[in-house]
Amino acid sequence: MTQTNCILCGIPTNQDFCEPCILDLPQLPYNHCPVCLWPVPTSEICGACLNKPPAFTRTIATLRYAFPVDALIRALKYQANLSLASILGNLLIKKLKITNIIPDVIIPMPLHPIRLRERGFNQAMEISRHISKPMGIVVLPDSCTRIKHTPSQAGLPWKDRQKNIRNAFKCKIDLSGKHVALVDDVMTTGATLNELAQVLRQHGAIEISNWVIARALPE
Ligand SMILES: [Zn+2]
Ligand SMILES: [Zn+2]
Repeated sequence: MTQTNCILCGIPTNQDFCEPCILDLPQLPYNHCPVCLWPVPTSEICGACLNKPPAFTRTIATLRYAFPVDALIRALKYQANLSLASILGNLLIKKLKITNIIPDVIIPMPLHPIRLRERGFNQAMEISRHISKPMGIVVLPDSCTRIKHTPSQAGLPWKDRQKNIRNAFKCKIDLSGKHVALVDDVMTTGATLNELAQVLRQHGAIEISNWVIARALPE
C-alpha cells in the first residue's frame, strides 16, 4: 500500500484519513428519520416528513455537517480542491454499499450557469462522476438545469429557503419508472433537494434517493 499523509492531521497513513481522525469525524445521530435524517428517538419517519412528505423517498448521508467536514467541503467548493470530491466520495460509496439500494440513474444537483462559470466546476457533478463507476450507475449530467439564479441559500433563514428555490429547475428527460439518485454535497433544510425531486417526479421518477456527503443538523 502506498504511504501517504492523513489529510486532516498529516501523520503518515496508508489511507486518506488516519484511524483516529476517521473515528473523530462527526457522525449522524444513531436514530434518525430515514427520509430526512432528522434525529428521532426510534428511527421512524419524523413528524415533519409525516405532515408534509417530501418528494424524495430517502436520504443517505455520509457524515454530519460539522467540523472538520464543513471545512473539507468548503475547500472542495471554494478552493477547488477537487481531490476532496473523490476522498469524500469514497466515504459515501462505503455507506452506499452497506445500504444496498441501487437506483437506476444518478443526477447531480445542477448549478446555475452563472455560478458554474464563477466556480469553474460543479461539486455535485465531481462527486457523481467519482461514485458512478464503483456503484455501476450512469450519471445523467445535463438532464436537469437550474434556471433561477438565487442568492446563496446559506444566507437565508430556513423558512425562506423553500420560497427562494421555487421553480428553480427544469428537466428535459423522461424518467418514467426510474429510481433516481440525487447527488449533492450538503443537505441543509432539504428545500433544494425537495424542489428538484418534485420536478423529477413530474418527469416520471417513481423513487428518489438523496445521496449527500453531509447533513446539517442542530447540535
Ligand atoms: Zn489524522
Ligand atoms: Zn424526516
